[in-house]
Amino acid sequence: MYWDRDIETMERSALQRLQCERLAATLERAARAPYYRRLLEKTGVADVREPGDISRLPFTTKAELRNEFPYGFLAVPLTDVVRLHSSSGTTGNPTVIYHTKADIIAWQDLVARCMYMAGMRSSDVFQNIMGYGLFTGGLGFHYGAEKLGAMTIPVGPGNSKRQIWFMREFKTTAMHILPSYAMRLATHVKEMGLDPRTDLSVRMAFVGAEPHTEETRRRIEETWNIRAFNSYGLSEMCGPGVAFECPEQSGMHIWEDSFLAEIVEPDTGAPVPDGECGELVLTTLTRTGTPLLRYRTRDLTRIIPGPCPCGRTHRRIDRIRGRSDDMMIINGVNIFPLQVEQTLMRIPGIGSNYLIEIHEENFMDRLHVSVEMAADSFQGTLSQLEGLQSRVLAALRDETGVTPVVKLLEAGSLPAAEGKAVRVVDRRAQSGKGC
Ligand code: AMP
Ligand code: ZN
Repeated sequence: MYWDRDIETMERSALQRLQCERLAATLERAARAPYYRRLLEKTGVADVREPGDISRLPFTTKAELRNEFPYGFLAVPLTDVVRLHSSSGTTGNPTVIYHTKADIIAWQDLVARCMYMAGMRSSDVFQNIMGYGLFTGGLGFHYGAEKLGAMTIPVGPGNSKRQIWFMREFKTTAMHILPSYAMRLATHVKEMGLDPRTDLSVRMAFVGAEPHTEETRRRIEETWNIRAFNSYGLSEMCGPGVAFECPEQSGMHIWEDSFLAEIVEPDTGAPVPDGECGELVLTTLTRTGTPLLRYRTRDLTRIIPGPCPCGRTHRRIDRIRGRSDDMMIINGVNIFPLQVEQTLMRIPGIGSNYLIEIHEENFMDRLHVSVEMAADSFQGTLSQLEGLQSRVLAALRDETGVTPVVKLLEAGSLPAAEGKAVRVVDRRAQSGKGC
């Protein structure tokens, strides 16, 4: 039941001691990177007696990673580096993370631990429907699945027909897929005259890399008749393998032997108590190539208080509620895109693809929500469609406090991204207003 029983069920006090040892070693390693050398000369290397001692150090942000491009955060000689991953910056320098052999081995073990925890075994056939390349989702899971010993199909994203062909021919039982694509792919399965619930062998999915709601997860599970496990990670830490759901599916265990997690108030950086929502801040505890101290993820979540019935002692974080930088401000009202998703996914007859646009009309902000209908609702009469539209409008107004313009669309008519879904487009004249 456990991939690594000793680590996964380690007593909290022992886990904290391990964190302290690893934190001290991380600080020493970090001091070899030009950026942290300068920083630690100023602040002094913290004497770590308990994990909380790290709060004496300043945060690291994405901006610093960008400014120090390309090698300011590299803590080992280049000859020790075996791979880099980089997140595409739409503006400015990309952020680059360098991995040593030891980092790759540690990462693949973490991902294997996650998949094993969710119930994948070497007898499973694993189809990896995530992008390979600089994006960490593909290679991260690929190496993890191989470590676990499952036959891995490195098909990558897109080309739904081919995905379904592989699923049928090789009797795929587990897949790693973006939540937005999981719903689209199911539609393609149905268009081919197949029932994803009964005509395929898929029994579990790992879904993550983009924000999604509990409602979306349930839809994925129902549509495919599978269990879908939430997978959280970011390339600055390693990629997938940072936090993952266990069979209880009530929060994601954050692997505290490898990451030190803090939750802080996004505006002030002050710690928030367990149970309260804030921004997740992470420190790597084993990484050698690019150790990161107190990295501001921008992801909003909370620590779920109390032990998990599965017996693992690593604390759980709640589903990511959004990013501190994706909040939309519509005429002064704060709205997170996931509030819109949650509302839409609760309405029967509504499909899974949607797009939020913010326009400026007569000097006022206006929220436009275009949403695809489920394939069968499109057959409805005009008055049924009008009824559905008013239900969507009323539900969104109740949830967000603003009155949006709602457009119902035929299934499959919104543009489909191959990578992470683009859910919000700000069309207001001044950019940077809100999201
Ligand atoms: P990247 O470094 O490009 O892989 O992107 C990492 C970001 O994707 C995270 O900081 C989150 O904002 C988002 N992300 C990853 N996994 C999840 C997840 N399971 N739920 C919500 N957002 C996620
Ligand atoms: Zn658990």
